[in-house]
Amino acid sequence: MLTTNPFDPNGLDGDKLREECGVFGIWGVDNAAGFVTLGLHALQHRGQEAAGITSYDAGQFHSHRAMGHVAGNFDRDDVIRMLAGRAAIGHVRYSTAGGPGIRNAQPLFAELAEGGFAIGQNGNLSNAMKLRRTLNRQGSIFQSTSDTEVIIHLVATSERSNMLDRLTDALKQVEGAYSLVVLTPEGLIACRDPLGFRPLVMGKLGEATIFASETVALDVVGARYLRDVEPGELVLVNDDGIRSFSPFEKVAPRPCIFEHIYFSRPDSIADGMSVYEVRKSIGAELARESPVDVDYVVPVPDSGVPAAIGYAQASGIPFELGIIRSHYVGRTFIQPSHDGRLQGVKLKHNANSALIDGKSIVLIDDSIVRGTTSVKLVQMMRDAGAREVHMRIASPPTRHCCFYGVDTPERAKLLAAQMNVDQMRDYINADSLAFISIEGLYRALGEERDPAQPQRCDACFTGAYPTVLTDLNEKDGGSSLSLVASR
Ligand code: AMP
Repeated sequence: MLTTNPFDPNGLDGDKLREECGVFGIWGVDNAAGFVTLGLHALQHRGQEAAGITSYDAGQFHSHRAMGHVAGNFDRDDVIRMLAGRAAIGHVRYSTAGGPGIRNAQPLFAELAEGGFAIGQNGNLSNAMKLRRTLNRQGSIFQSTSDTEVIIHLVATSERSNMLDRLTDALKQVEGAYSLVVLTPEGLIACRDPLGFRPLVMGKLGEATIFASETVALDVVGARYLRDVEPGELVLVNDDGIRSFSPFEKVAPRPCIFEHIYFSRPDSIADGMSVYEVRKSIGAELARESPVDVDYVVPVPDSGVPAAIGYAQASGIPFELGIIRSHYVGRTFIQPSHDGRLQGVKLKHNANSALIDGKSIVLIDDSIVRGTTSVKLVQMMRDAGAREVHMRIASPPTRHCCFYGVDTPERAKLLAAQMNVDQMRDYINADSLAFISIEGLYRALGEERDPAQPQRCDACFTGAYPTVLTDLNEKDGGSSLSLVASR
């Protein structure tokens, strides 16, 4: 049975998807762009719409950006030869359905009065529109609709004398989430916003210094993890060494909790914790909070697998692969339309009917956003002969939009913003449905949630946004242009 979404009866999901991103930067090694290519391969899950690399070689910048995956676009001799130099930064970018494509691909580059400036961002600035309007009025001419370009114009118009100070000046004016890699003739700069929304790690490969969104990108080049770039820290690397700066007022960090649930790769270490182990712990908590008597625990591959292992281990119910995933299809969200997503789900997952037939199962997924995936998969399990299909979700209901770099549709399309859990269970046609509690989620991270001052950004579940949302609040007063974020 294909249920019609009452909030999108025509199935025409015209909302603009925002993107998440991954960044990588390296200073001090021959053929730096080759290392960036490898790093971007490992970060490909963070963005599949476009990729780009900018290198710096003896006073010259070289840049290549392409739509699509790293494979095929960057692991080519001609491209890597063109991207000469001992320093380079790279970026992978998530889907923006209907977005302007290549002109928003990063790294963005500008020739400033003081020399070249290349920037790659993971995050989303929540006052970019307001700043852009002011800059426009002052004569800035924008080349893209990316929020990251605002930073370039703020750097360009800063009165400070060196790039690091100009960047600091710029960043003091922006609000929201940014983990940045910046390449200038003065060195490679990495920076994380004061709340540390998005991850950024630092590593060493011989003499070379590396920054990357996740530790998997260090692993792939054989680099050693040194430490996280701290929230509010700027690190400058050049041939004189590594220097750290903390120019912002210190605030309690609020790293994104969703990185642990879905976004980071399970083999990464995030906030000092194994993403895989955390996901297993979430599954174990879920089993304790919402047990169910079934034959098999079945993960929604791949994102539900670690939580399903945890659920199976804690409950003693066998873990089985009841859904097989084709690895030749991208993430469901990359599909630009609702219809496209339905197709994508069909292409991506198939029932292991021989296993499922006549059995009761609990499906484990990391999250329900629009509900499209759950509707399809529950039905797929029923069509395969499942006797009972229960569903357990390794995150609390996603009730609020993210303005800090994780792709969420507008609030009206978030299933949990429109329905309570019983209604959602009926909508997805499951025998039972349960989500982990917010407290259980923090427990899985080894923490106790402080409701007055949560240790993490969990706004997608709670609505407790850690910053003012300037652009959102001023929406009606602004222009009709909507900026795309650099997630
Ligand atoms: P939906 O079908 O809209 O309910 O989306 C839920 C599915 O999308 C889950 O299986 C997740 O693994 C995946 N997902 C959740 N959040 C995101 C995100 N921000 N970007 C891409 N995929 C996501």
